[in-house]
Amino acid sequence: MYKLLRNWRERRIVRHSPITPAQWQEAFAALPLLAPLTPDEKARLRRLTILFLHRKVFEGAHGLDVSLHMALIIALQACLPILNLDLDAYDGWSAIIVYPAGFAPERTVTDEFGVVHHVQTGLAGEAWQRGPVILAWDGAEEGGHIDGQNLVIHEFAHKLDMQNGEANGFPPLHRDMRVEDWVQAFSEGYADFQLRCGEGEHTGIDCYAATSPAEFFAVLSEVFFERPDIIQRLYPLIYAQLRQYYHQDPVARMPDQALT
Ligand SMILES: [Zn+2]
Repeated sequence: MYKLLRNWRERRIVRHSPITPAQWQEAFAALPLLAPLTPDEKARLRRLTILFLHRKVFEGAHGLDVSLHMALIIALQACLPILNLDLDAYDGWSAIIVYPAGFAPERTVTDEFGVVHHVQTGLAGEAWQRGPVILAWDGAEEGGHIDGQNLVIHEFAHKLDMQNGEANGFPPLHRDMRVEDWVQAFSEGYADFQLRCGEGEHTGIDCYAATSPAEFFAVLSEVFFERPDIIQRLYPLIYAQLRQYYHQDPVARMPDQALT
């Protein structure tokens, strides 16, 4: 009964969406990352995005007025990882706070309060456990380019990770996945990646991933959707785990790209 009611409510929300075809087109055009999706996947992503926008509240900081276009750009990227999962994965919080440009929080990383803190040159975001996602608009806007980095996916990967407590690189797995396989793939990969970064090797994966298992999962999630070829080549076991976790196989859809 609850499911029927929910389906009815969701269909109603989607049917009454004020987003015009031109607005969708403009948002998709700004996100080349989404171009390889099939028409069916794009339709499902639009539906998910409408429901996401219905559940979440966008707040501009530092005088920023978050337009529908900006909300769409963020929501479409946030929904890509959960395209084949459930929107409930983002339940338990509602605010997305958007700054005009990279912000520099004065506090330090304080894991005991459940804060995952991330600052990159010119890009910044944070994901708070049971709290908001904070994004810099300039970073969110750049995310649509296929360069291996994606601020929005990064912060929302932290949110997926936080579904079972503090972000630690171990989100709740699906029933058909084995914890041992995940732990082995990620712990071996993390140790190897720390070595490579220590030696100054250029892998195409940001060495910020070497700072903690939580960041390793978030950064590898960015790369999984943007440059899956890199993960498949370097860490095929992790690629297999992420493919099972996200229920997506980006290598199959993304264009061939030379390593940069
Ligand atoms: Zn992070």
